[in-house]
Amino acid sequence: MTKQAENNRVDRTLQKLQNKREAPKSAFILLLLLFVIANAATATMANTHGEFNMFGAPVDYSAMAGVFSMLGNICLICIALLFGKTGFITAFLLIVVQFPGLVLNIFVRHNYASIPGLFSNLLIALAITIIHIGNRKITAYQAGIRKQAVTDRLTGLPNRFACGELLQDYLKRFERFAVITVDLNNFKNINDTMGHDTGDKVLCEIASRFKALANSMTTGTRDFVARSTADEFVIVLHDGDTPAAVERTIDAYRSELERKITLDDCDYYTTACFGYAMFPDHTDKIETLLTYADAAVHEAKRHGAGSRVVQFNSDFLASNNSLEIERKIRSALTNDQILCNLQPQYDMEHHLRGFEVLARMKDSNGNYISPVDFIPVAERTGLVDRIDMRMFEMSVEFLDKVLKETGKRITLSSNISVRHLMKNNIIEQIRKVLDRYDVPPELIELEITESIMIDSPEKAMQRIDELREIGLKIAIDDFGTGYSSLSYLNNFPANLLKIDKSFIDNMNLNDSSRQYVAMIISIGHTLDLEVISEGVEAKDQVDALKDIGCDYIQGFVWGKPLPLDKAYELVSSSV
Ligand code: C2E
Ligand code: CA
Ligand code: CA
Repeated sequence: MTKQAENNRVDRTLQKLQNKREAPKSAFILLLLLFVIANAATATMANTHGEFNMFGAPVDYSAMAGVFSMLGNICLICIALLFGKTGFITAFLLIVVQFPGLVLNIFVRHNYASIPGLFSNLLIALAITIIHIGNRKITAYQAGIRKQAVTDRLTGLPNRFACGELLQDYLKRFERFAVITVDLNNFKNINDTMGHDTGDKVLCEIASRFKALANSMTTGTRDFVARSTADEFVIVLHDGDTPAAVERTIDAYRSELERKITLDDCDYYTTACFGYAMFPDHTDKIETLLTYADAAVHEAKRHGAGSRVVQFNSDFLASNNSLEIERKIRSALTNDQILCNLQPQYDMEHHLRGFEVLARMKDSNGNYISPVDFIPVAERTGLVDRIDMRMFEMSVEFLDKVLKETGKRITLSSNISVRHLMKNNIIEQIRKVLDRYDVPPELIELEITESIMIDSPEKAMQRIDELREIGLKIAIDDFGTGYSSLSYLNNFPANLLKIDKSFIDNMNLNDSSRQYVAMIISIGHTLDLEVISEGVEAKDQVDALKDIGCDYIQGFVWGKPLPLDKAYELVSSSV
């Protein structure tokens, strides 16, 4: 197929998507046939004298002429109504051709019985003209809506839906093609620093460059460009039978993209990552193909900024799995399927101190997905803020209920991811939740891992101070697994230190591990921090921790994470 023919085909597919579906041609022929029969019957009846018997009553033949004439008119109205412009012209012509006969009858043959026919034809002509005008308005409106449904508003390129339809078309013919996902690098920076208007203009410029290149037929492949989401484009290419051919085309798009963009006297430089998957080499399913191209670009982006091209490889399915998890998190957040479990914390005398709040996620099949799997994905995709805040709100709500109904002052510890903590709006988010409940903030603890001190300790410290000003307590989570130096720890304005399970696991295996835990506890106490050991599973660990002065214990030995109602029962029955 020539490139021109291919472009025509793309246009036809898009056109097909935009066009209104009309009634089938067979209906048109049937209506026309019915009209001819009705007209012939009208003429026959009008010229037949006498009566016939209908259900025992005598009926004049000429009266039946009116019935058939009406039937003919209904056919014309249906044709005008159902078949747009063609229908209107056909119906109009069919009326017009009857006029000479009617006029001849009345004025030459003086057959005045044709006068009602003349008037009824004039009225039908008026009726179908009105129908046609109305139809045109509706059709124009519908065409606008359909166009919007397949076109990206900002750039005017076809959207992802149109792209999927085109791929279906290719698939039916079982032709070889490749799908490329183009993800712009650091596009957010342009939006953040220059504003969304500029960001939009940059996207439009890139779109028009891509479109011009696709139409120029110079890439050696036949290409179709669509915009899929904010800063992502999809290119479908034909005739790129080998990875080398696909990558040559990608190079052409990359050069277009990386050329300087000048807007309002400012120069912008953009780069992108490209991921591609080939049909049928990688999969023969459209949706999977798009997902594979996304997984490839995801892989390209994983290695940081820079322009990269990656071909899909089944090894990416693990990261593809993270796309799946991301989808599940989004859906769980919308459908309220992020729940929490509370794991009890006790002092060394086995009195309840409070609970750690742990997120749980149910997918649409009702299966639980472990936070070990979904929290890292949520952190990468920025969704963790929403999870953390949901958990925080649930803890405050639970605490409010406990205080009101039992009067017991327990502590609830909620996890806050480092990434979330560094966001500027976190303080405001927390204040808003606290304002809604009547809960003393000192009964709420936020668990933050010590890794917070690695990247920007000053900012971290300031943020923690702000949380302390609200009155909240701070726990250093997973202590011992990070790399924070003692001097940082000295400045970490925390209340509690949580010794990571890995140290507790080893503590009774040899003396030095036990001394190590003892040393952490004593450092904690020197820094004026209380110390809790987590992941305590055995009675002998409890005994050892008592001996070396640990303050609290959290672990399966005294309690697993519980659903809210069971946790409530535990508080009610605790002394
Ligand atoms: P984490 O904060 O260190 O939480 C403790 C984890 O250890 C929990 O696993 C808990 O169920 C488990 N655990 C407690 N005691 C024992 C024990 O005796 N034996 C064993 N084998 N495990 C014990 P979980 O609930 O699977 O949570 C895993 C991690 O997910 C958490 O580790 C935390 O890093 C993260 N996470 C959970 N909920 C949230 C949340 O709401 N926000 C954020 N940012 N992270 C969360
Ligand atoms: Ca924790
Ligand atoms: Ca922990």
